[in-house]
Amino acid sequence: MPHAYRILFLMAETGAGHRSAAEAIRSAIHLLTATPGQHGELDADDAVAQAHMSCAYHTENIDAFAACGRFPLRKIGRLYGWSIRYTPRLYGALFHLTNHRRSFALLERALYRLLRRGLAQLLRQTRPDMIVCVHPLLSHAALRALDEAGLRIPFLTVMTDPVTPHRSWVAPAADHCIVPTDMARDFCQQHGMPDDNIAVLGMPIDLKFSRPCASKALLRKQLGLHPTMPVVLVMGGGEGAGKLVQRVRALWRAALPVQLVIVTGRNERLRRRLEQMARELPVPLQQRQHILGFAQNMHELMQAADLIVTKAGPGTISEAMACRLPIVLSGCIPGQEEGNVRYVCDEGIGVLAETEEELVAILQECFQRDAVMLEQMRANMSRLQKPFAALAIAEFILRASSPHYSQVASRERVVVA
Ligand code: UDP
Repeated sequence: MPHAYRILFLMAETGAGHRSAAEAIRSAIHLLTATPGQHGELDADDAVAQAHMSCAYHTENIDAFAACGRFPLRKIGRLYGWSIRYTPRLYGALFHLTNHRRSFALLERALYRLLRRGLAQLLRQTRPDMIVCVHPLLSHAALRALDEAGLRIPFLTVMTDPVTPHRSWVAPAADHCIVPTDMARDFCQQHGMPDDNIAVLGMPIDLKFSRPCASKALLRKQLGLHPTMPVVLVMGGGEGAGKLVQRVRALWRAALPVQLVIVTGRNERLRRRLEQMARELPVPLQQRQHILGFAQNMHELMQAADLIVTKAGPGTISEAMACRLPIVLSGCIPGQEEGNVRYVCDEGIGVLAETEEELVAILQECFQRDAVMLEQMRANMSRLQKPFAALAIAEFILRASSPHYSQVASRERVVVA
């Protein structure tokens, strides 16, 4: 019986992007290891590939705050959702406050205190051969826990903030830091990550987003949408953040010739509110509204849409790029998403609508006058997108998991004080 190599993914449900990223990489690992030898670099002569063939992989994805954190940390997912919806400025202030060496060291110590026992238990229970950390606030604590347990296993971080990450993403004691962009690489270098340990491989998104859609009209029919009327997807990340009520109300008032698919994510209260508001719309307009909670088929919704209105979440932006779906940003989470707004606008893959009036005007331009703007954005997306990043990351991880790894990469861990 071959030894199952256990890869433990650590993430936290602050938003939905970290889970999506971890799941995208896991799926890609399963895809690669289910068909060894069929992928360019993993040929049979390769010692690494041979190791893969004789060794099954078991991956597990753990929300470490919920599973290992003491109160109040295990409730942080809900607190985060609440804070980005109702007190985004306060959230932004905390982001910047803790984004300094000293203040982050304090935060890191406090986090470790709340996670220490739970992480030690998790390591005993899961006995991982490798850890892949997909959340900035977990790496330092997990590295300390490994050190305390005397475990010398490969530790990788996968960064999911492409432009303005928080310094907590950089854990110099990690063996590798996989980053989405050159900007993120520069950031890691500036914060002490050795250059050789940084790999720029793109944002991990599920491969489903890059599968071409055979017929948009058919897909729309399957989703219960009108096959030819333009579709605007409106969302605010996993938490349904970003003033969605005001945005949707303005679009309803403008009564544009489009159908709206509104995804409220985990924000059930918002879904109920919008459903109630929609009942008061004139019937023809009402029939063009599709209000959904947490969607499990975002790839289909994006492939069926002509435009997305969203906050500047890195996961959503990258997925939209893979679907060549033009973006209208309705705002961002202060701090980590601020740079994403600049990126989207500077690269010409989307525009920012700061107010409801701007949003309506942009959509009028796109759907009532001419669609040149949309075509230009799609062309720019083709130039920039890295839709197969999850595969590249999975392959990197598999290589790092090789039995050769320990010989190749002997290193001393440096625990952040
Ligand atoms: N998502 C989803 N269903 C929903 C809402 C969001 O699967 O109803 C996914 C979306 O496809 C993306 C992630 O959640 O993968 C959101 O990530 P992003 O970085 O954009 O924002 P976050 O939620 O982390 O703030």
